[in-house]
Amino acid sequence: MRLAIIGGGASAVTLMDALARSTPGEKITVSIFEPRAVLGPGRPYQEDADSALINRPADSMSVRHTDPLDFRNWLREAGRSGEFPSADPEARFQPRRLFGIYLRRRLAAAAAKLVVGGGAVEMCTATVEDVYSAAGRLVTLASTGVAEAHDHVVLCLGTPRPADIYGLTGRPGFVADPYPLSEPLPAGEPVTVLGSNLSAVDIAVALLRRGHTAPIRLISRNGLLPSVRCQPAAIDPAEAGQLAEAVQLTPPASLWTTVRRLLHGRLVAHGGSAHEMALDLAAGEPAAGRLARQLGRTDAADCWRAVLLPLLDPVGELFWQRLPLRMRESFLRRHNTSIATVLNPMPPATAALLLEALRTGALEVHSGITAVNASPGGGFMVTAAGKNHRAGVLLNAARATPYDPVEPAGRLLGRLAARGLARPHPCGGVYVDFTTNRVLGPASGLYALGHPAAGDIYYANAGSLLGISARAERIVARIRRGSTTGTTTLATSSTLTIGGRLDG
Ligand SMILES: Cc1cc2nc3c(=O)[nH]c(=O)nc-3n(C[C@H](O)[C@H](O)[C@H](O)COP(=O)(O)OP(=O)(O)OC[C@H]3O[C@@H](n4cnc5c(N)ncnc54)[C@H](O)[C@@H]3O)c2cc1C
Repeated sequence: MRLAIIGGGASAVTLMDALARSTPGEKITVSIFEPRAVLGPGRPYQEDADSALINRPADSMSVRHTDPLDFRNWLREAGRSGEFPSADPEARFQPRRLFGIYLRRRLAAAAAKLVVGGGAVEMCTATVEDVYSAAGRLVTLASTGVAEAHDHVVLCLGTPRPADIYGLTGRPGFVADPYPLSEPLPAGEPVTVLGSNLSAVDIAVALLRRGHTAPIRLISRNGLLPSVRCQPAAIDPAEAGQLAEAVQLTPPASLWTTVRRLLHGRLVAHGGSAHEMALDLAAGEPAAGRLARQLGRTDAADCWRAVLLPLLDPVGELFWQRLPLRMRESFLRRHNTSIATVLNPMPPATAALLLEALRTGALEVHSGITAVNASPGGGFMVTAAGKNHRAGVLLNAARATPYDPVEPAGRLLGRLAARGLARPHPCGGVYVDFTTNRVLGPASGLYALGHPAAGDIYYANAGSLLGISARAERIVARIRRGSTTGTTTLATSSTLTIGGRLDG
């Protein structure tokens, strides 16, 4: 049996890990296609300064949803062997770089296990430009010109790259994609970041920790920073059961109203404040005031985020899938930007650093961006709320919803749609079967994992690896059940077999 995994980031690692842990069946040959030189870290977890931290606690960063502490335990083991002397395995938020190494190791271990079991793993340093059906199989066409037939193909394409809203790619001083964050920037040069989301915060923190001396400006439409992460409140199983039942049984048309009523009831019962919720979700509050207010609430048991989010987490996926499509579209259009600030919060230590920088003037946050123009003499002019801001260096962190048709993921999805193998989803990615992650269309062996499936499988904790890992297991269960035999290579393969690029 042949399996192609398109994209070599964290989703691919969860899939490989699930495959290696599954009951061995027919011998399997896996081809992983990824244009980056190193497999595993993907876009967010590349080699970076240790000051660039993951935004989620280490205890929920694992490639195995059945073992959320896997990363933490790996860190402890590495600490005991003295491998990363400067690392603190007990720190709640860990460097992105370390997580990237963990991903590489887990991928190498999974590949080795498959090889020991008689399988083969091939790494192809290339993008996949096309996938088509031939003789009942799926053929990948790589950028190297090599075509290979597979029984199953999984799209692990990641999130869209930042949107180039103002058409600035190629202009000197414009950084189209800021990851990894350790790229050198002149310390005395003012830096402007397009966006105020988590990526924008990551950039600001990396610069501040590096001792950047000139002002850093975050400029976006609403000027909303991510919320500050708070301690989740304990969940009463009876309440969780009631919500789960409502999400499963309420007719779709009244689902939104019913869930809102239940959440409101819990909020009131736990002394939570609707006013605090409205403040958190609305634009307009000055950034320093918002950070100070939320930092004062990180351990508050009645904070609405602590009360509601842990209850919603287990049912978020199903809730999203059962909502009528027009409601999902309307939610994304009207509420997603503000809800995303709550679902993807920043660590309190990050918030404290930003607050200090806002107070000293090292950081500014502006809303109301309307235009960015390249200046004739070099640099850029950013217009926000009627004021012009001159910028020499412009880092792009603008969130993109659809894939750009010129980036590899967008190109491939466009070809799949043109061939009728996938249908673009109005809420992102392509339509998939909710139970199996199979891409809806004529190809029974085509799947999507992670962001390409987000239209149907909204990750309540957007991009949660534990959620992705649970989905990877479903795909593996189906692949293992329905495998067919045979290998076809349609052209000379230039793939590498398992080797150095895997293990870090
Ligand atoms: C900037 C950023 C920061 C994040 N930070 C956090 C965080 O701190 N904590 C957290 O829990 N989650 C975070 N996330 C969420 C993140 O989505 C997941 O944690 C995880 O990285 C998703 O992995 P992935 O493999 O789906 O995507 P990626 O890691 O992006 O990997 C996708 C890969 O697919 C490749 N690819 C795309 N198209 C093709 C093609 N046609 N052919 C071949 N290869 C292709 C790309 O080169 C890329 O390497 C972050 C996401 C982003 C974008």
